[in-house]
Amino acid sequence: MAAHIEGAVTTPADAGWDAARQAWNVAADQHPDAVIAPSSAEDVQAAIRFAEQHQLRVVAQSTGHLAAPLGDLAGSILIRTAGLSSIDVDPEALTVRVGAGVLWADVTAALAEHGLMGLAGSAPDVGVAGYLLGGGVSWFARSHGLATSHVTEIEAVTGDGRVLRANADEESELFHALRGGGGNYAVVTAITMRAFAVRDVYAGMLLFPLERADEVLTAWEAWTREIDETATTSLRLLRVPPLPELPEFLRGQRFVAIDGAIAVEQAGGGADAAASDAERSAAAAATLAPLRALGPIVDTFGLMPASRLGEVHMDPPGPVPGGGDGANLSDLPRAAIERIVELAGPDVDSPLLAVEIRHLGGALAVPAPGGGAVDSLHGRFLLYAVGITPTPEVAAMVESATTAVLDATREWHSGIDYINFRESQVAPERLYPAATLTRLRAAKKQYDPAGRIHSAHPVH
Ligand SMILES: Cc1cc2nc3c(=O)[nH]c(=O)nc-3n(C[C@H](O)[C@H](O)[C@H](O)COP(=O)(O)OP(=O)(O)OC[C@H]3O[C@@H](n4cnc5c(N)ncnc54)[C@H](O)[C@@H]3O)c2cc1C
Repeated sequence: MAAHIEGAVTTPADAGWDAARQAWNVAADQHPDAVIAPSSAEDVQAAIRFAEQHQLRVVAQSTGHLAAPLGDLAGSILIRTAGLSSIDVDPEALTVRVGAGVLWADVTAALAEHGLMGLAGSAPDVGVAGYLLGGGVSWFARSHGLATSHVTEIEAVTGDGRVLRANADEESELFHALRGGGGNYAVVTAITMRAFAVRDVYAGMLLFPLERADEVLTAWEAWTREIDETATTSLRLLRVPPLPELPEFLRGQRFVAIDGAIAVEQAGGGADAAASDAERSAAAAATLAPLRALGPIVDTFGLMPASRLGEVHMDPPGPVPGGGDGANLSDLPRAAIERIVELAGPDVDSPLLAVEIRHLGGALAVPAPGGGAVDSLHGRFLLYAVGITPTPEVAAMVESATTAVLDATREWHSGIDYINFRESQVAPERLYPAATLTRLRAAKKQYDPAGRIHSAHPVH
């Protein structure tokens, strides 16, 4: 195979094997038959042909943030896409075309040079491809909808080995499937998406002692009913690990953390240029005022460059062993709040790093015109429980605490979850309504008839 591939091919016999097979989620112990790092779509095509000849599956991975549901990868060729790293910004068309291995940090920096912003999620080291294949909930999600609804073209090598360009007019079923239906049909090599003329944003974090969990969660939930779609926020019951590299005020502490972003008017030319930052921030500050009135012990909200949004949520800056899972919630009534606080509030010794609740709704609730398989999200909130899992014993504790949180809130699950926050194997019926699933299965048959490609959430 190596003779037909320009990029690196690594097998278990090679010295770099352990590094080559390692996912971002260090807890995922991946044992594929070979790892390929393609440098072109032709390399991907050669890898798929080889897999076909040897009856192997093909799995693509940009980082391995969602490695947990993939299993051990036995009988697979793992395609690591980091080498597909091109970033081409078109400031006139307000688009950016990125290779499938690009991380959000890199595209965010490239766009910022032109005063533009992409719809990145909270963690800068998440891959653009995996995020968009599942949907993409950014800090502008309630005003702009899912990031994948702003994808305009996808280049990919299908499971049956064709190099295709998919957009609204060409290969439109593939284009539909890849925007929210996961990577089940093809190995994506490049994605073009819209960029936005947003330089700055009112963003930050409010921290409260975990002892105030019930009161703050109740107040935040009430606040989410009042605000408009300019604000996208998250609330976490957070136990910060005692890591020496963290600042002292965070290290080993327990908080309720509310963070996120509120869109502001962008300073333009002419009369707009005269508007001061304080004037431009005024509406955002007024939106946040009821939460500030609760008296946080830390308040970092303020006007900041949109390119620094990746710092707001304090996601781990590099690979970690972790376990977590999530569900979409149709509502968060008093009884649900009580159950969450019972399981992760101040009176328990929880192994969970965080129980997070992200506010959905706004543009996320409305099907995006011309959107893909996932063009909106179900429910008012996205619940996600996660822990760091350095040992199998801790992993078992985290898994059981995660399950307890999901079980305790089951009566408010909306029935259809967001695939990027499901880190366990789940039936596809939990991820897609019946009509969408039928269409995704037809796309799978059309583009990967032999079932060569395996992805985190299969549709069969
Ligand atoms: C710390 C953290 C923070 C997060 N924050 C957010 C957030 O704010 N908003 C949000 O929406 N999500 C968030 N997520 C979830 C994240 O979007 C998913 O884990 C996403 O799948 C990661 O994409 P990836 O490419 O980095 O991961 P990978 O694990 O590499 O890929 C994810 C899936 O996509 C498939 N895939 C990857 N590349 C390709 C390709 N080229 N062709 C075909 N299939 C491919 C993989 O096979 C896998 O099934 C977060 C996750 C973590 C761990």
